[in-house]
Formats: sequence, C-alpha cells, structure tokens
Amino acid sequence: AHIFPTAWTGINERTFLAIKPDGCQRRLVGEIIKRLERKGFKLVAMKMMHASEALLKEHYIALRDRPFYGRLVKYMSSGPVIAMVWQGLDVVKTARLMMGETNPADSLPGTIRGDFCVDVSRNVIHGSDSRESAQREIALWFKDDELICWDQSTESWIYE
Ligand code: UDP
Repeated sequence: AHIFPTAWTGINERTFLAIKPDGCQRRLVGEIIKRLERKGFKLVAMKMMHASEALLKEHYIALRDRPFYGRLVKYMSSGPVIAMVWQGLDVVKTARLMMGETNPADSLPGTIRGDFCVDVSRNVIHGSDSRESAQREIALWFKDDELICWDQSTESWIYE
C-alpha cells in the first residue's frame, strides 16, 4: 500500500476517464491514451473491465431520470471498457476540453469526440465533469491500492 501525499490538487489533481465499449471495438484505445500522454498528463491507474450494470447504474446515477438512462447502461455494459485515472495540473477541465462536447456534432475537430465519432450515444469516451465527480468516480471504479504513486522523470520539463 502507498502513503498518499497531501491533497489531490494542483499538479496532483486527478480525473477518471473511461474508453467506452465503442472506443475499444473501434481500436481507439492507443490513440486516446497517446493524446493524454503526449499532453503531459500522468497515468496513475488503468484496467480493462467488463463493467456490471450495477456499477454503471451507480456511475450514472445523476442521469437516472433521463429517457436514455437504460440504453446508456446497456451500451456501457455491452463490452469492455478501459477505466483510467490521469493526474496533472487542471486535468479535470483539460481532459474535458480534449474530449469535446457530449454531442459529437458540437465537438471541434482536434477533440477526441470531434475526430472519432458522430452519435451522442456512441461517443467513445467518458471523463469526470468536476473535481467532485472525479473523486466519487475514482472511488467507485478503483480500490486505493490500484492507484499508483510514481515519479515521472519528465516532470521537471512539464512543470516549472
Ligand atoms: N447520452 C446519450 N444521449 C443523450 C445524452 C447523453 O446517450 O442525449 C449518453 C452519452 O454517452 C453521454 C452520457 O450519456 O456521454 C452521459 O451524459 P452526460 O450528459 O453526463 O455527458 P458527458 O459528461 O459524458 O459528456
């Protein structure tokens, strides 16, 4: 087990990202991870899993009254997902910018959703929408000892 440093803020901010079943099927796993790596963010947890409907219902609990909730849970449990935790300065906000908007039609070219998908209900990636959501989602998807504390030798070239 690791002893974690202070608060997960500043350059230690973390977000939960997941490549959805369509992203896995469409072989976008490497492409998506490559973009976050090149940006300068640090991968601190990753696992491939076939998420249960129970986990996904809890993950999307805030959307339980929306008409697409049932279909969303079915889609997300229809194949493997790549669940990840990424760390870095303003990673929650920046990862959302890199993903693009919920609806791919509103996503600019150069964003993940803008470049790789067209349908709002097949939008290849999930990312936490706030630090509070990130904390909740990381705790839901990962055990503490699955989060890896490590020093990246390039850090002094990415941060002043
Ligand atoms: N979604 C959908 N139909 C809609 C809106 C959303 O199928 O009209 C799905 C889509 O996969 C989206 C997810 O529900 O990514 C969660 O919706 P949210 O509004 O939280 O968007 P996100 O935070 O993923 O951009």
